[in-house]
Amino acid sequence: MKRKALFLDRDGVINVDYGYVHRQQDCVFVDGIFDLVRLANATGYQVVVVTNQAGIGRGYFSESQFVAFMEWMRRRFDERGARIDRVYFCPHHPVAGMGRYRQACACRKPQPGMLHDARRDLDLDLSGSILVGDKQSDLDAGARAGVGRRFLFVGGQPGQAEADPAADVVARLSDIGVALRGTGITAEHA
Ligand SMILES: [Mg+2]
Repeated sequence: MKRKALFLDRDGVINVDYGYVHRQQDCVFVDGIFDLVRLANATGYQVVVVTNQAGIGRGYFSESQFVAFMEWMRRRFDERGARIDRVYFCPHHPVAGMGRYRQACACRKPQPGMLHDARRDLDLDLSGSILVGDKQSDLDAGARAGVGRRFLFVGGQPGQAEADPAADVVARLSDIGVALRGTGITAEHA
C-alpha cells in the first residue's frame, strides 16, 4: 500500500514568515506545529516540507545556509518527539534569480514539481495526502499534483488570504488534526 504524506509549506506554516527567514534567531515556530507533526507521525503520514526559497536565487543566503538552518530546525522537532521526514526546496526565481538560479523551473510553487519528486521518492498516494499552505500558490501546486485534501492556513489574519473553494480554510493548525485522524493508519495498527 502506498504511503500518504502531510505536505507542509514552511514559511507561514512551520515558522512565522518574516520574509526570507534563514537564521535560528529569526525562527519563531507557529503554534501547534509540533503537535501537528507528531500526530502525522503517529497516524502514518510522511511529513514532507515543500518550500519555495527564492532567497537563495536572489543571493540573500546560500544553499548551504539553507541546509544548515533546516538541519537545525529538524533537530528542534526531534527534541519534541516530532519527525520531519523530507525537505524539498526550490531555490529558483524566473526573474530575480541570479545566474543558474534564474529560470522558469518546474519546482517553484504553484508548479507541482516538488510534490511529484516526493511522490516518486517516497512512493506516495497523493490523492490520499494532505497539504497545508498559507498562500494560494501552495494550494495550486497541491491541486495540480492531485493532492486530495488541501488546507489554507490563515493564522492570525483570517480574511486576508484568498480562499480556494476546494480548500479548507483554517485559523489554527489544530483544526487540521481531524483530517489526519480520520484517514491515516494508526501507529498501533500500521
Ligand atoms: Mg508560505
